[in-house]
Amino acid sequence: MVAQRSDITVGMAVVPVVTVVAPVYNEEETLPHFYRRVIAALEDLGEPFELVLVNDGSSDGSPDVLLRLHQRDSRVRVVSFSRNFGHQAAISAGLEHARGQAVVIIDSDLQDPPEVIPELVARWQAGAEVVYAQRATRAGETRFKLLTAALFYRLIARITAVNIPRDTGDFRLLDRAVVNQLVALREHHRFMRGLSAWVGFRQEAVRYERAERFAGATKYPLRKMLRFSLDAITGFSYAPLQLASTLGFALAGISLLAIVVAALLRLTTGAIVGQASTLIMVLLLGGIQLIFLGIIGEYLGRIYDEVRGRPLFIVREVLEDGERR
Ligand code: UDP
Ligand code: MG
Repeated sequence: MVAQRSDITVGMAVVPVVTVVAPVYNEEETLPHFYRRVIAALEDLGEPFELVLVNDGSSDGSPDVLLRLHQRDSRVRVVSFSRNFGHQAAISAGLEHARGQAVVIIDSDLQDPPEVIPELVARWQAGAEVVYAQRATRAGETRFKLLTAALFYRLIARITAVNIPRDTGDFRLLDRAVVNQLVALREHHRFMRGLSAWVGFRQEAVRYERAERFAGATKYPLRKMLRFSLDAITGFSYAPLQLASTLGFALAGISLLAIVVAALLRLTTGAIVGQASTLIMVLLLGGIQLIFLGIIGEYLGRIYDEVRGRPLFIVREVLEDGERR
């Protein structure tokens, strides 16, 4: 055992205590500043650390910046995807490559201030196994984003059994035990902040002020945000499926009543309920049925993705330990 351990340490000088994992998608302008601020925050800790930067198929100059950072500082390890696989896949790859005893996930656009990291680490050293950073304020977000985010977290809290903390992003620290559990989960449509609540362990919150993006624009347009919310909902709840039966029972009940009312009207006043209302009812029911077919389709498509068993991401290149592979 002892011999084995020293073998590992020879290969890479020092085993890091803290790994910082950050997904990178077209952040060339921000990266040098991100690097500087993360390093400053980590050096204050006085523990060995490493940075695992996952290039999620960037199409700007980010790969060159990452290469330069790696060449300058061997603590920077770079994992490059073969194309854009998405934010959540990039985080998963980062967790897989992390070697630290504690892993901090942080966005590389500087919206999550790296200066909060020492506070997360202090909580971990005091015994917490998941320390999530909870946004007290959010600067520079549109009204629309704030409103939809607020609605989203409240909806998720209502319809899921796991307790996903409100107003948290992926900015958090995970103990090695938690990371190992998360890496073992291979589901495709990953909602990491949900999964990291689902695995349990001792969870604690740290409040922070969320900053504006340092440069560039959000990589989450409305379409992607909707996909992301659907992944979160389908990944943690059957509520949309169950809504079909609830609504079905309600409509069946109403139509039974309507039969009685129509029969009574026919017998007493001789009135016949008109054609227009029949047509409206047919369209209404057709519409409701199509909506629920669509909802079933959302679940079905995800089952299909799981059954095919394709990898979550494809790594093209890794820069680490002075090697390119
Ligand atoms: N990101 C990524 N792949 C993507 C989209 C985003 O790796 O397909 C990264 C991005 O570089 C950033 C983080 O994920 O570090 C969060 O993305 P963004 O800031 O665009 O989201 P927002 O903060 O606007 O929700
Ligand atoms: Mg951002």
